[in-house]
Amino acid sequence: MRIVITGAAGFLGSHISDHLLADGHQVIGIDNFVTGSPDNIAHLAENENFSFYKRDVSNYIFVPGKVDAILHFASPASPNPQSKSGYFNLPIQTMKAGALGTHNCLGLARVQNARFLLASTSEIYGDPEVHPQTESYAGNVDPIGTRAVYDEAKRFAESLTMAYHRFHNVNTSIVRIFNTYGPRMDMEDGRALPNLLKQALLKQPLTVYGDGTQTRSFCYVDDLVNGIVKLLYSEEHYPVNIGNPVEMSMLQFAETINQVTDNTAGIVLENLRSARDPQRRQPDITRARETLNWEPRVDLKEGVRRTIPFFKQKLEIA
Ligand code: UDP
Repeated sequence: MRIVITGAAGFLGSHISDHLLADGHQVIGIDNFVTGSPDNIAHLAENENFSFYKRDVSNYIFVPGKVDAILHFASPASPNPQSKSGYFNLPIQTMKAGALGTHNCLGLARVQNARFLLASTSEIYGDPEVHPQTESYAGNVDPIGTRAVYDEAKRFAESLTMAYHRFHNVNTSIVRIFNTYGPRMDMEDGRALPNLLKQALLKQPLTVYGDGTQTRSFCYVDDLVNGIVKLLYSEEHYPVNIGNPVEMSMLQFAETINQVTDNTAGIVLENLRSARDPQRRQPDITRARETLNWEPRVDLKEGVRRTIPFFKQKLEIA
């Protein structure tokens, strides 16, 4: 297949590009580098099956030749207010990437008669009142809350995707991605794993926000990419949660990172948690198990071990 992927220079986009190229496809990457990095795709420069366009997806997307599939992954995604590349500091771009970017990608999928896959998010569930989150749960999002630029853009993107499916019969799919980590994460985007792993490798105390009882479920990137590619190859049109169902508190998460890195500097609680930081998050992955025959295989300790070499290289420590 000839596959377009927006956000190809991002953490997830670059890993998906690698996987699709290894499967024998041609990949056309699009990114404007607002949050993605050329470093993430530098290794593909000589690959004759990979081509790249520096473009903003909120403008009309032109791709020469036949396209068989479009994966829309372009968007800021970090919720951290301190991060320059997070959606707090890129609110309009975030809404445009989710709304106009999705519209442009769906238009391309329609004229090309191509499969479309939307990167959606667990954030569409907001601060969930149903636990674990099944795809049938409609969510708890405040449309003017501080996370809303991301949450509502993705909710709109899902609505638009289903509208193109139902009204124009476009072959669409939607993946709801839960917390994911691994090599090529933006070290500076303020998210939990980059912050804490960086601190641990520098032998500093880990900063856990709030009282650390809020929970998350962390998926290693290779597991996530396997699930997304299975969804791409499937006939599924309804949203599918992809994530790791092993739920833990942020305190447990930090303790695991300290164990794996032999960091003895401990944990400090910091009052930096935003008011809209969800209290609990855990995917119900029954649909992914049943329709895609998918489930994650890499546990947190193993995933952190696999992530360490990238962080050490970036931090220039041996
Ligand atoms: N967090 C933390 N310490 C940090 C960074 C994040 O305790 O240095 C917490 C954050 O408050 C949230 C959880 O880790 O409860 C996951 O945050 P992240 O930014 O990775 O993404 P989210 O799951 O909120 O979208």
